[in-house]
Amino acid sequence: MVALSPAILNHVAKPARYTGNEWNSVVKDPAAVIVNFALAMPDVYEVGMSNLGLKILYQILNNRSDTAAERVYAPWVDMEREMRVGGIPLFTLESRRPVADFDVVGFSLQYELSYTNVLNMLDLAGIPVLARERNERQPLVACGGPCVFNPEPMADFTDFFVLGEGEEVIKETVEVIAAWKKRGKPGGKEGVLKDLARLNGIYIPAFYDVSYHSDGRVSMVKPLSPEVKPVISKRVVRDMDAVDFATKPIVPYIEIVHNRIMLELFRGCTRGCRFCQAGTIYRPVRERKMETLLAHAQELVDNTGYNEISLVSLSSADYSCLSDLIHSLIDRFKDQGVSISLPSLRIDSFSIELAKQVQQVRKSGLTFAPEAGTQRMRNVINKGVTHEDLLTAVGAAFCAGWSSVKLYFMIGLPTETDEDVSGIANLAQEVMNLYKEIKGRRGAKVTISVSSFVPKPHTPFQWFGQNPVEEIERKQRLLRSLIKDRNITLNWHDARTSFLEGVFSRGDRRLGRVLYQAWQNGARFDGWSEHFKFDVWMEAFVATGIDPAFYANRERQFDEILPWDHLSSGVDKSFLVREYGQALSESVTKDCRRDLCADCGVCPGLGVDPVDWGCR
Ligand code: SF4
Repeated sequence: MVALSPAILNHVAKPARYTGNEWNSVVKDPAAVIVNFALAMPDVYEVGMSNLGLKILYQILNNRSDTAAERVYAPWVDMEREMRVGGIPLFTLESRRPVADFDVVGFSLQYELSYTNVLNMLDLAGIPVLARERNERQPLVACGGPCVFNPEPMADFTDFFVLGEGEEVIKETVEVIAAWKKRGKPGGKEGVLKDLARLNGIYIPAFYDVSYHSDGRVSMVKPLSPEVKPVISKRVVRDMDAVDFATKPIVPYIEIVHNRIMLELFRGCTRGCRFCQAGTIYRPVRERKMETLLAHAQELVDNTGYNEISLVSLSSADYSCLSDLIHSLIDRFKDQGVSISLPSLRIDSFSIELAKQVQQVRKSGLTFAPEAGTQRMRNVINKGVTHEDLLTAVGAAFCAGWSSVKLYFMIGLPTETDEDVSGIANLAQEVMNLYKEIKGRRGAKVTISVSSFVPKPHTPFQWFGQNPVEEIERKQRLLRSLIKDRNITLNWHDARTSFLEGVFSRGDRRLGRVLYQAWQNGARFDGWSEHFKFDVWMEAFVATGIDPAFYANRERQFDEILPWDHLSSGVDKSFLVREYGQALSESVTKDCRRDLCADCGVCPGLGVDPVDWGCR
C-alpha cells in the first residue's frame, strides 16, 4: 500500500480526491482474484467520477469473482508535484496499490486534450510510456471511449484499443487475460495481444503497418500478419435491458461534476446532425424498457441516497415513453423529495410540457441548442429545428415562468458566411424581444455559448478543412460587436484549443511524437484553460517537423485513405459522402427512427435493430 502522509494531503487542494473509501467503493483482496484492472480517467477526480461508462464497467468487473477493478484519476498539478518530490507512485483509490502492480490499466479517452494526461499518469506510475518498451511483467495499457474511433495519435502508447460499447467486450477481454495468466503467460505480451486480437472490437496498433505518400497522406494501413483483421468493427449492445447498469455507483465525499443519479434511457441518436460524432458511433437507437428504468431508479435511490435523478442520453427528450416515465418517477419518488432533471431538451413545445412536469419538484434554467444562427446553416448541419420551433419553445418557457435561457451555437461550420454568424446575435435579440412582448417588461437573461466547430472522424464533415484560428477569432470579434443588449451574455471557447483538438481528432500515428514532446515539455491538463500552454504545443510541432495545419485545416478528397478507415463504426462511408453532398445542397435528411431508414448501413452491417418502444 502506498503511504500518504497527512503532511502531503495538507499541501494539496481537495485531499479527498486521493483518499478513496467512498460509499459503495469495492475493495477486494488482490491475491483472491486473477485479474486486477485499474480503470483510469485521464482527468481530475471530479470529472472522472462523473463518467457513466466507467461506473458501468466498475460494477461489471467487480461483480466477477475473478476480477478486482479499482479507480485512478489524474492527480491535479499540486498532487503531482508532491508525488514527484516524495517518490510516490501513481496509486488506485480502493487499495492504494501502485498502478504498476495491475494487470491492465484501461483509460477512457473522452476528448483529445486529455491525451498528455495519459502519458503523465503512466510515467507517474513508473510504467514505460511507450508500448514497445513494456513487457509482460508490466500492465497492459488499454484505451476505450469515443476518441478510440480514431486512436492513431495514441498508437505508440497503447497496447490495445476497445472499439464500441464496453459492456459487450469487457468480460471477454478479462477472460482472455485470465486464461493467459493461468497458463503462465505463454508467448509473453505478444501472446496475450494475439489472443485479444481474435476478439471482435479489439484493435492492436502494433499489428498494423502504416505507410504514407510523399505529400504526407496515408497510402496504406496493412495488417502485419494474415490472422489480423483488416477492419475492426465496433461492438454494440443489442438488448439494453439485458446488460448490467451502474445501479450501485460510488457516492463521493466532495462535489463532482454530475453529483446525482444518472439514469440512461437509451443509447444512440438517429437525428443525424452532420457534425455529431456521437450520432454515428452510438447508432442505432436502442431504448431501455420503462420497467427496467423504474427498477434501476429504485435501486439507485436505495443505494446512493441521492435526491436527484438525471435522465441522461444523447437526446433524452427523444425517449419514446418519456412522458409516462416522468410521471411514474415523480409519483414514486416525490414523497422522498427526489427530483427529476432533463439535461438536454429538444426545441419544441412537447419539451416545455415535460420541463413543466419536472419543475414540479425543482426549478432550473432551460438550455436549448439551435447550433446555428440561420435556417440555411441549420439545414446544412441537419439540425431539424426551425426558427419558429425555437421561438415557440422559448415563448412557452417564458409563459411558464422561466426568464433565463441558455443557447448553444457553433461557428466555423462548412459553408458558413458572416450572415450566419450575425444570425446568432439576431436570434438572441429576438429571444430578448419575445420576453418583453410576452411579459410586457424587460428582464430576460440570455446566455449564448459559442464553440468552434471541430470536424470529427466518422461524420459527414470528416473531409472538411477546419477554419484556421485567425478566422475563428475574426468571427468571434464580429459576433461580439453585434451584441448590443447587456442582458445577453456571450461565452466562447479559445480557438487555439479547438485547433489542437482538430489536429488530434483527425491525426495519424506520427502525432505520437508530438504528444510525447509536448508532454515532456510540460503539457498536461490541456483541456483546462489555466494549464493550456499553446506555445509548448507549437514548439513540439516545430521540434518534430510536423505541420499541425496539415491535420486541422486541410480539406480532404473523398478518395483519400483516412487514418481511421480500418476502424468501422458500422456506418458506410458512402452514406457519409452522400450526407456531405446533402449538406452542401442544404437538404435535410429525416430521423430514421420514425421516418424512412436512411440506409446508413449500421443495422444490416452489425446485425442490430433499432429498439423504440413506441409509447407515443
Ligand atoms: S440502418 Fe437505417 S434504421 Fe438503422 S440506423 Fe441506419 S438509417 Fe437508421
